[in-house]
Amino acid sequence: MTELNSAETLIRLSAAELAAKLAAGEITSVALTQAFLDRIAAVDGGARGVKAFLHVNTDEALAVAAEVDAIRAAGGADAAALHELAGVPIAIKDLIVTVGQPTTAGSKILEGWHSPYDATVIERIRAAKMPILGKTNLDEFAMGSSTEHSAFGPTRNPWDLDRIPGGSGGGSAAAVAAFEAPLALGTDTGGSIRQPGAVTGTVGVKPTYGSVSRYGAIAMASSLDQIGPVTRTVLDSALLHQVIGGHDPKDSTSLPEPLADLASAARNGSVAGLRIGIIKELHGEGYQAGVENRFNESLELLRNAGAEIVEVSCPNFQYALGAYYLIMPSEASSNLAKFDGVRFGLRVLPTEPPLTIERVMAATRAAGFGDEVKRRIILGTYALSAGYYDAYYGSAQRVRTLIQRDFDAAFAQADVLISPTAPTTAFKLGEKLDDPLAMYLNDVATIPANLAGIPGISLPGGLADEDGLPVGIQLLAPAREDARLYRVGAVLETLLEEKWGGPLLAQAPELAATALETQEAK
Ligand code: GLN
Repeated sequence: MTELNSAETLIRLSAAELAAKLAAGEITSVALTQAFLDRIAAVDGGARGVKAFLHVNTDEALAVAAEVDAIRAAGGADAAALHELAGVPIAIKDLIVTVGQPTTAGSKILEGWHSPYDATVIERIRAAKMPILGKTNLDEFAMGSSTEHSAFGPTRNPWDLDRIPGGSGGGSAAAVAAFEAPLALGTDTGGSIRQPGAVTGTVGVKPTYGSVSRYGAIAMASSLDQIGPVTRTVLDSALLHQVIGGHDPKDSTSLPEPLADLASAARNGSVAGLRIGIIKELHGEGYQAGVENRFNESLELLRNAGAEIVEVSCPNFQYALGAYYLIMPSEASSNLAKFDGVRFGLRVLPTEPPLTIERVMAATRAAGFGDEVKRRIILGTYALSAGYYDAYYGSAQRVRTLIQRDFDAAFAQADVLISPTAPTTAFKLGEKLDDPLAMYLNDVATIPANLAGIPGISLPGGLADEDGLPVGIQLLAPAREDARLYRVGAVLETLLEEKWGGPLLAQAPELAATALETQEAK
């Protein structure tokens, strides 16, 4: 291979660039997939490894890659029919079920469990012939903002290995940030795609609720959950969204209409004449100074590019976190009832007789679930219990309606809304582990979109002055207007790259050091 197509160069290219090289016959999918597998071997394991992956799917990934290469080499109709992303590898958050690989949800209760069926998004990835590199780490059952609640240990942030990569989908974000995969899938119930994107300098999209099938995503809170792309560029997210999105009869909340052409929205970015609304309640007090500075710079860039910047107020957002932490645990407590030692995964017998089914369930759940999951099951069960249901769950649902109305009013004044994605940059591993409320506050800016079912994107907005760590900028659009996020996101991405002298990830210091260290150790 020429220098231009060396493994070290290839792993840093975007999925769109890789797809073009594959289509032109400049590289093979086997060489490409092997380059990512080698990268995983070099940076993911060991005491100071990124630990983005819970399972690496070497043989199957290479077999799919070889199949794509053979089809391309043969030419003809089959080669012409290949999907644009055929042969481009992807990593999958381990909350999404896959045949042929374990699915753990980051929990001991599912350790060693294999799904008998594929999630719809996995079927679509297989149909597009994208090699699946493996399953990525997450907070147990997607509950957390740091991956520290994974039963299998935390993932590290490639920018600084002593810091968190965000959560719950920190594994997918870290894999993409560390060039272990060009693309990944995440799930976002309260911010688990966007917040990891923000703190790792990657792009993450939570699609409109119902725009991507949830069939085969292990449910956390069914009315909030949404699968979405984790990538290094806005265009790559649009391309991946198109692979996984669109109607699915297996998901009763799946939207009936076909997806808009998201990739051309990303390719034809424009903001001229567009009204962009700053959400008054989602910046300023409580946000790190460096986050606020980068946010203000993005506003300036968009204004100079011809957008009209307006300010909107969403007064009920102050109750969003409170409503979320009643609705999400309520739904989770019900969804997690099925992990009972009878149907899936772990079974623990009580140490003393009698051996009743209730006692087996209790012993299994006591041993199989971690503290955060137990905390939320208790919260949810309490909120749903007779006598408290209306006071807690009922009130939270009414707040949810108020938040939706705030968005409706805001979108009457602005075409898209903008805010920082997270109030701070990546914090230190362990820093918030013993303080659940401090951990929950990370999602203050991302949760409203889940409560309203609207789409959101986080993209890298530069590095914070005080710590040199990535800051995320969030854009929000009305439901079903995902294309607008790609159109505006693509413009902001270009402006920011001009300002920062290229992609932000090229500037990650620790990552480069790790790669070197591991190679020297060999
Ligand atoms: N961090 C949030 C929580 O802990 C969001 C999780 C998610 O989006 N899956 O609930």
